[in-house]
Amino acid sequence: MNRHSLRLNTFEESATLAMAAKAREFKSRGIDVISLSLGEPDFKTPDHICEAAKQAIDAGKYFAYPPVAGYQDFREALASKYQKENNVPYKAENIVVSNGAKQSIANTMLALLNPGDEVIILSPYWVSYDALVRLCEAKPVLVKGTLESDFKVTAAQVEEAVSNRTRIIIFSSPCNPTGSVFSRKELEAIASVVLKHENILVIADEIYEHINFTNEFVSMASLPGMFERTITVNGFAKGFAMTGWRVGYIGAPKWIADGCIKIQGQLTSANCSVAQRAALAAITSDIAPTLKMVDEYKKRREVVFELLKDIPGIKSNYPLGAFYFFPDVSSYFGKSDGQRTITSADDLCMYLLETAHVSLVPGSAFGDDNCVRLSYAASESELREALARMKKALANLR
Ligand code: GLU
Repeated sequence: MNRHSLRLNTFEESATLAMAAKAREFKSRGIDVISLSLGEPDFKTPDHICEAAKQAIDAGKYFAYPPVAGYQDFREALASKYQKENNVPYKAENIVVSNGAKQSIANTMLALLNPGDEVIILSPYWVSYDALVRLCEAKPVLVKGTLESDFKVTAAQVEEAVSNRTRIIIFSSPCNPTGSVFSRKELEAIASVVLKHENILVIADEIYEHINFTNEFVSMASLPGMFERTITVNGFAKGFAMTGWRVGYIGAPKWIADGCIKIQGQLTSANCSVAQRAALAAITSDIAPTLKMVDEYKKRREVVFELLKDIPGIKSNYPLGAFYFFPDVSSYFGKSDGQRTITSADDLCMYLLETAHVSLVPGSAFGDDNCVRLSYAASESELREALARMKKALANLR
């Protein structure tokens, strides 16, 4: 008797994870796939962070359930990071540590949304925003940025999308999938729309905070009036190459943090004890290893940008952060290699996987059907090889 809940059918499977699984399946069949689908650093977690985890195990006292919101000293360290680096006066009571930033977002939405509420998603957006809104029986309202506007949505567009059901506005900056970074001015303009409406909150996803090639990073919660209106999401996966450790966190007004703690207390309890000790070491020590990785990403961005320019029919913005390109590939729609006709970015991704053995993620999962997402969190030689294979496969489409 196979009968899933109705809820299960309201959202899609995560496309990033699905493409990564497909690439793994090809690899397991002995096919040499270059996987540029998952947004996952190819670096190893820095040694001093792994060392802290080993010490935590050897200390013999981190075997029991941690407090649901995270260890007190860890919450204090995160609050102090916000005060010093982001100019946001969070205290430990404002911090909730979770099983990855994805759970942080899920907790927040579950704690704040009622069925029928609307969530404005600045698009292109990260895949799981839309799915999590639907999981909460709320309604995603997409506001779209275009390639011509560096994929950035303006405050005027946001204003136009606001209704009396709007509860949350969510975005990431630096943005997954476009690499765009909002300037202070642009964030201020969006904040001024939020402040006109007393029921609207913002989820500011700052997980790519460190992978930012501009010289300024602005936290939404640091802007005048926005502390009370913002849930700041962050985590260790990207900046510290810790995807598998699953440590995410929020900073939020206490009533929201308390709501998230209640949800998490019933869903998963606290995040893994040893992972928290490792992340504490990451946040309290010199971030030189992070800066080194960022330097490397910046070099790769140049390589990929030049190689993409060299492929006819591909249009791309120049990303200022994160580690993705989100090129428009629509000029290939309607073309064929003689066997199959490409009608969408989904088709093109499958074509590239099967013929060039390069895995990307179709833009439909991020709110733009004309694009594909390419993660450049891979070595320069893999990137050069992948782009060469793509160029060759695309040239066969006529
Ligand atoms: N955030 C990463 C990505 O966008 C990891 C995969 C996921 O959880 O979606 O690829």
